[in-house]
Amino acid sequence: MDIYETYKLIERLGEITRAHLRKVATKCGLQPVQVEVLHYLVSCNQFSNTLMSVVDYLGQTKGTVSQTIKSLEAKGFIEKIPDKNDKRTVRLWVTQKGKKLIKQELPGIPFTAALESLDKDSQSSLSKSLSTLNSALLKTNNMDTFGVCRTCIYNQKRTDSYFCRLLNIDLAEDETNKICKEHTVNGS
Ligand code: SF4
Repeated sequence: MDIYETYKLIERLGEITRAHLRKVATKCGLQPVQVEVLHYLVSCNQFSNTLMSVVDYLGQTKGTVSQTIKSLEAKGFIEKIPDKNDKRTVRLWVTQKGKKLIKQELPGIPFTAALESLDKDSQSSLSKSLSTLNSALLKTNNMDTFGVCRTCIYNQKRTDSYFCRLLNIDLAEDETNKICKEHTVNGS
């Protein structure tokens, strides 16, 4: 398979994802970007829930994200709360209403059933290939990884806990399954 064919496949996968997102958004009376912001905010950790992190993750303009956040706040899906250690930083927290919406609507992501229909070896080799492509893409475009905390070089597993060697703090186990703005991989 040549690069063009691979690219067309990736493009098609992107279209399928966007079509699903539009369907979910219409059902919930939201814009697709509002669902994307909510999804990011329920997936990220406590150090990555700022306006600029959302801007970096989605690659949207600051103006678009700012308007989106304002309207999600007005609908009761998120709350803006100043950081307890730095009042100049405003953190964006998803309310119970927002969490419920994401939990109910997003599990129907279009790839779940297709992935489950593959045998274990195919799932594993697909996962490795996609991970390799993702790393190369982020590196060549000089983008942040926003990877899962557990896979970060600063995440240290201790006997009964986890520790972040970059921020010098203990991490609760559920935090280590979230994505982080500061996530770093070897060689980056
Ligand atoms: S270990 Fe890495 S990913 Fe986890 S909180 Fe620290 S910097 Fe973020």
